[in-house]
Amino acid sequence: MTRVEEANASQKYNANFLKYIKAFADVGKHSRLFPKKCRTCGHEYADFPQYIQDTLPVGHGLEPYKDSGDALHTMQYRNCRCGSTLSIDLTEDEYPLLESFWEMLGKESKERARPIREVVLEFREQCNRYMSEQHRFSGE
Ligand SMILES: [Zn+2]
Repeated sequence: MTRVEEANASQKYNANFLKYIKAFADVGKHSRLFPKKCRTCGHEYADFPQYIQDTLPVGHGLEPYKDSGDALHTMQYRNCRCGSTLSIDLTEDEYPLLESFWEMLGKESKERARPIREVVLEFREQCNRYMSEQHRFSGE
């Protein structure tokens, strides 16, 4: 791949990701998660897209776990502009596709022989780009 082809490829979205990216963009105001307020500086995040837009990434940022009732959760870690880590605990109540989301990531990782961590990073990068573009288009 040439440098230009590489740049073009990075502008596209993985077709397998899109459904999940759009569902993340819908995680919004009407849940127990938002608005979310930073305890350190008091900055308030109205919804998930704004949280993604206004915070900075930490590590690979998404970690699945099961609670004692065997419900699937996913922790999303981002840093507030003030430097505090703001975690969000997603469940299927906020993100109904959670189970199939991790299945899809596992499948991508297997089929493309890439570590799950890299697939998560790629997803996150595309997801964040999608939300920034939506943000721009809505004129806010
Ligand atoms: Zn803060």
